[in-house]
Amino acid sequence: MSGQSPKTALVTGANRGMGRDIARQLAEKGVRVLLSGRDRDAVTEAAAALRSTGLDVEPLVLDITSTDSIAAAVAHVEAEYGRLDILVNNAGIRIEEYGKQPSEQPLHQWRETFDTNLFGVVETTIAFLPLIRKSPAGRIVNVSSLLASLATHSDPTSYAYSPMFKSLPAYSASKSALNSWTVHLAYELRGTPIKVNAVHPGYTKTDMNDGAGDLDIPEGASTGVAMALLDDDGPTGSYVHRGDVVPW
Ligand code: NAP
Repeated sequence: MSGQSPKTALVTGANRGMGRDIARQLAEKGVRVLLSGRDRDAVTEAAAALRSTGLDVEPLVLDITSTDSIAAAVAHVEAEYGRLDILVNNAGIRIEEYGKQPSEQPLHQWRETFDTNLFGVVETTIAFLPLIRKSPAGRIVNVSSLLASLATHSDPTSYAYSPMFKSLPAYSASKSALNSWTVHLAYELRGTPIKVNAVHPGYTKTDMNDGAGDLDIPEGASTGVAMALLDDDGPTGSYVHRGDVVPW
């Protein structure tokens, strides 16, 4: 990737879970990282912990469901850094209860899920786009899920073809919509240096899964990090997991 050094990255929902480790791994690669989250104390503590190990990490308050919070974050990044090289849209929620039928999940959970997992990402991305356009090699990474994949959900041999993973319809649909947004934005930006990609981290042992999962957090974070650091000849508009293309 071309451009001046250091690159500046913003990671949403980075006070804990995979976002925090994406921040750590990017900082270890020499990127200046804005570790963001909606709770001031949580981002301050998380950034301080990484700074204490010598990493260039700054806290930033950003609630992706708040227009005012997004505007304040954009103003801060513009004033301090003048541009944004990497935006990792990692913040997400899974609030549905396992075990219910798809038709049993209440509508308010659909709305809340889409407010964060789709509308929050779209609004944050559009707001930061002018600063990303100022980068010589902008990268936008949307942290999706295998549960976004309609091909996987429809495959009776898939682990998603199970009562457990069919009980999160709003979460799954919000990530399918995020994938669609990824493709649309990549199309709009196809003539620019900016690359927009969706990633499936893997089933990872975070709070979202109450600690269950196949991957430890650093492994789960690694796909997002790789796509954030893509070379100029890397893909755009793709959906990947650890270097492999995931079926839409
Ligand atoms: P997590 O441990 O639950 O962390 C979620 C993060 O998102 C937290 O920092 C949370 O902040 C933040 N967040 C939620 N709403 C926010 C908002 N409105 N504004 C800003 N930050 C907000 O989850 P995770 O497992 O690390 O998940 C990270 C991403 O990976 C998510 O997009 C998730 O859907 C995706 N994913 C996870 C898995 C998995 O197996 N874990 C698999 C596929 C995809 P608070 O601390 O303030 O709540």
